[in-house]
Amino acid sequence: MLARQLFDLTGEVALITGASSGLGAHFAKVLAANGAKVVLAARRVDRLESLKHEIGDAAHAVAFDAADRSTFSKTFDQAESAFGPVTLLINNAGIATGSFFADTSAEEWDRIQAINVDAVWLMAQEAARRWIAAKRSGSIINIASVLSYRVSLANSAYAVSKAAVAQMTQAMAFELARNNIRVNAIAPGYIVTEMTDDFLKSPAGQKRIQAIPQKRAGDPSDLDGALLLLASPKASRFMTGSVVVVDGGHLTSFT
Ligand code: NAP
Repeated sequence: MLARQLFDLTGEVALITGASSGLGAHFAKVLAANGAKVVLAARRVDRLESLKHEIGDAAHAVAFDAADRSTFSKTFDQAESAFGPVTLLINNAGIATGSFFADTSAEEWDRIQAINVDAVWLMAQEAARRWIAAKRSGSIINIASVLSYRVSLANSAYAVSKAAVAQMTQAMAFELARNNIRVNAIAPGYIVTEMTDDFLKSPAGQKRIQAIPQKRAGDPSDLDGALLLLASPKASRFMTGSVVVVDGGHLTSFT
């Protein structure tokens, strides 16, 4: 098959959480450029509107707060009103922590788990329930991290949350395969976005970059291959439960 056919996303409707910046905004552009309709979900609606303007008619913006689970079903309804049934959920919204374990407040722990774990679980559940009820296939891509597998200083709550994302990807994939629903994840290493920019510019961040075998932090576009692979039902039809690591080799020698 030709590559352009293998990765053609015409007919796909992708709901992307955390599409107002960083990886989510980039994913939306890449998916739309390859034929998908994209529903942009996040809190900063002004950012979503300007991204929608950039992408054009293939994009639709919806206000979405991952901390408010009561609105998740409505988010899918809004996406469906715009473009028809969602076929691809990208569970990308996430927040980082900056506290040492002993200093992490209960509130900080709760917030990280609510957004990085609970929302990923519940949005995937909402998608799966809709697909099962409609007897439709579907695909979920969760955004994990190299910290799903390793730990670093002042990141324990985040690392625990991302370990949960990797594990839930496999648990969901295992059960949902019978419903023709695929669940995979991308585990990025350090990628330059608003989440990491300040750290990566700091002396500690520069030192961390030197621990990456490729000696650089990633750009969001470094994830394009993994994204298109997992997003295309043709390219990854026999993949489910996979966590694709894209990290410049960082996991081989994590420090
Ligand atoms: P980012 O630029 O800070 O983007 C985070 C996105 O999450 C924003 O669009 C933000 O939108 C959204 N978000 C945060 N809290 C939210 C909430 N309560 N409700 C809805 N959306 C919320 O960071 P990023 O690097 O692109 O991160 C994207 C994902 O990649 C995260 O899950 C992150 O953990 C993961 N990741 C990043 C890296 C990296 O090196 N950059 C590495 C591994 C994994 P609003 O603020 O507008 O709501």
